Amino acid sequence: MKKFKTESQRVLDMMINSIYTNKEIFLRELLSNCSDAIDKLYYKSLTDNISGLTRNDFYIEISLDKDARVLSITDNGIGMTEKELSENLGTIAKSGSFDFKGDEKLKDEDINIIGQFGVGFYSAFMVAEKVEVISKAYGEQSAYKWTSRGAEGYDITPCEKEGHGTTILLYIKKDEGGENYTTFLEEYTVKSLVKKYSDYIRYPIKMQVTEYSSEENATPKKETQVLNSMTPIWKKRKNEVTEEELNEFYKSAFFDMQNPLTSISMSVEGAVDFKALLYIPETVPYNYYSKNYEKGLKLYTNGVMIMDKCADLLPDYFSFVKGVVDSEVTLNVSRETVQQTRQIKAISQSIEKKVQKELLALQSSDREKYEKFFKAFGIQLKFGIYQSFGMHKETLQDLLLFYSAKTGKLITLKEYVNENEGDIIYVSGKSVSAIKALPKTEKLLADGKDVLCFIDEVDEFTIKFMGEYSSKKFVNGLESVESDGSDVTDEQKAVLEKVKTHLEDKVFKVKGSTALGSHPVCLTAEGEVSLEMEKVLARQLNAPEGVKAQRVLEINLTHPVFEKLKTASDSELETLSKILYSQAVLIAGLELENPTETAELIINQLSK
Ligand code: ADP
Repeated sequence: MKKFKTESQRVLDMMINSIYTNKEIFLRELLSNCSDAIDKLYYKSLTDNISGLTRNDFYIEISLDKDARVLSITDNGIGMTEKELSENLGTIAKSGSFDFKGDEKLKDEDINIIGQFGVGFYSAFMVAEKVEVISKAYGEQSAYKWTSRGAEGYDITPCEKEGHGTTILLYIKKDEGGENYTTFLEEYTVKSLVKKYSDYIRYPIKMQVTEYSSEENATPKKETQVLNSMTPIWKKRKNEVTEEELNEFYKSAFFDMQNPLTSISMSVEGAVDFKALLYIPETVPYNYYSKNYEKGLKLYTNGVMIMDKCADLLPDYFSFVKGVVDSEVTLNVSRETVQQTRQIKAISQSIEKKVQKELLALQSSDREKYEKFFKAFGIQLKFGIYQSFGMHKETLQDLLLFYSAKTGKLITLKEYVNENEGDIIYVSGKSVSAIKALPKTEKLLADGKDVLCFIDEVDEFTIKFMGEYSSKKFVNGLESVESDGSDVTDEQKAVLEKVKTHLEDKVFKVKGSTALGSHPVCLTAEGEVSLEMEKVLARQLNAPEGVKAQRVLEINLTHPVFEKLKTASDSELETLSKILYSQAVLIAGLELENPTETAELIINQLSK
């Protein structure tokens, strides 16, 4: 007996121990594997010019044997060789990117993650105590049987099978622990599960169904029925599809446990003819903000899936979009060269426009939903502007939201411009409340001006590349409020200059301010690079070393500590200057260059 790979073993354990409550989805998973296997063979027949395989010959068949407690599913798809049986069913396909942590119990979160992989073939073990897979690969002479009772491992033995394809036999568990497994041997249950989850599969799913005649004493007849409508959901008219169907399709095709936030249907005729059904997820996929996330849409041409994730159909800034594109002209392409075609470009441009339009529409029709979307994926839109050096500004700028310091609500740039005269004022910081507590923000708000709170690191970079919005400049609020210098007396100026001599290597400038409220000091910056940007750059690998903000120490001229500076001896002034500077650095959320020195200065000052 062969053993399962470790990660597969864990998923199996989970399936067997039924942590996953929605057991019925096993049927959907197995049927979708059958459909994939047929797609693969059909596609091969087209590209390799194999004769004798016609589309209409393909089918999937379910049969039920209540007495033996066996549910079987047969397809005449591409099948598996001995090696493929072992490789494909011995390991969970995408487990590479999934980290099981030791022997910890799986949490809801983990289950959610597994859900996003597609629980796949192993879901059979949620309802079956034993699973047999009999398969013959297309073009091969021998067939093999894979058998497993779950965790301990699996066996593969040679067997007989007519024709290519795969049969899966599920030996359904006995009812126990309040679970009704027998229901999966009932025609009625199976029929409704196929309707619910697998209706769109484009090959007939057949089953022998008992027909009861209305005549008295007539014996019930068996007849073969096709259980699914076979029309892909994206080919149905709008009024033929319910929201529930759209949601079910989304969940099964894109491995999400939650309904999507919204769906977008497209039917385009013109330069390229295609239909598309697109979705925006409600929650961020667990690996969305990592390198492992693959963007892309499922690509069909003439009803056959040719790519599971065609990346070229989506710009990076809309990489969260999931969906299906079905091109009605045959894309004369192989799986490898899809990206080069002109049609793909045309389709992707039209998708980009549509998504942008739909998002704008959502923004005005259902603001709450839009904010949910923006909280999940808004940062990706900002990156879209930043990474393209502003090239996609026109597409993206009106989709952005920022918190208003005045109302605490998310607003668009258009709303800011409509409500406020003059430049667009922003302040960067850790949170809206931290920004509102800054003395300069307080002053701006008191003067009746609103301030956009930049709480994402990318914000300042984004607006640098936008340049302006609607002919309004972006202005850093920390730099915009300053005393014009005329109210600084000569005596004060002399003190400020002396402070500067003690901080020569640390700051670019020391200046007086009357806009700091009750705060003694604050640190700002002059020039292109702000303090927030310096922080971000410092964390980036390969960032050029010289990129530093030009630091400005502002001292509150009306604070009692300024009186102290005036009368301090030279050595005391040095100590105070350094302490005040350190304090400003900390308030700005930056790190002290030399914390020990600062600590000593403070303790010396206190012990005087
Ligand atoms: P996934 O379908 O997400 O890749 P599964 O665990 O469902 O993962 O299946 C693992 C692999 O086993 C599939 O990728 C496929 O190669 C193979 N497989 C499963 N069912 C069939 C089938 N009916 N015919 C041919 N191959 C199959």
